[in-house]
Amino acid sequence: NPVIGVLALQGDVREHFAALAGAGAEARTVRRPEELAAVDGLVIPGGESTTISKLATAFGLLEPLRERVRAGMPAYGSCAGMIMLADKILDPRSGQETVGGIDMIVRRNAFGRQNESFEASLDMADVEGGPVEGVFIRAPWVESTGAGVRILARYDGHPVAVRQGRLLATSFHPELTGDHRVHGAFVQMVRAEG
Ligand code: GLN
Repeated sequence: NPVIGVLALQGDVREHFAALAGAGAEARTVRRPEELAAVDGLVIPGGESTTISKLATAFGLLEPLRERVRAGMPAYGSCAGMIMLADKILDPRSGQETVGGIDMIVRRNAFGRQNESFEASLDMADVEGGPVEGVFIRAPWVESTGAGVRILARYDGHPVAVRQGRLLATSFHPELTGDHRVHGAFVQMVRAEG
């Protein structure tokens, strides 16, 4: 089985562990460059992207993450993780860096106050067996994408799931629903690489 790391600086690491195990991968925490070097793919969890960014810098992980993504490591980011995989953020907080890799601009906390948390059924390309239940928690949306980015799902017209090459990102949290199909699609991406 592929060994998939979960970036364990902040956020819902445990839930991603369970989802990856449910999807047939061996999950490991990643906090140090040596741990990053030992995984076949990486999940960046939901949480708070400014905090994850600052901790990644403090742990000396930001450049190694950028290098591995540039070298083609598959990665999947949910919510804050989506923000971390974006080449550009609208209105980043000061000191907020991203790993990048997906040619897109994301808007943080995009759904606004009235709609900070909600669930929605989404038709998602590359995921079979019916709609995916999307849990959105102060979620970003994708404001714009470059030509190489495929939009896999939209909500209210806004892209909320995208893929570029071996990089996958969702605005929502499939790790919170017990439905492992999105993680399954990612595990398939990691397998296809090997
Ligand atoms: N609003 C958070 C951020 O900007 C993301 C929220 C989440 O991951 N559930 O990082």
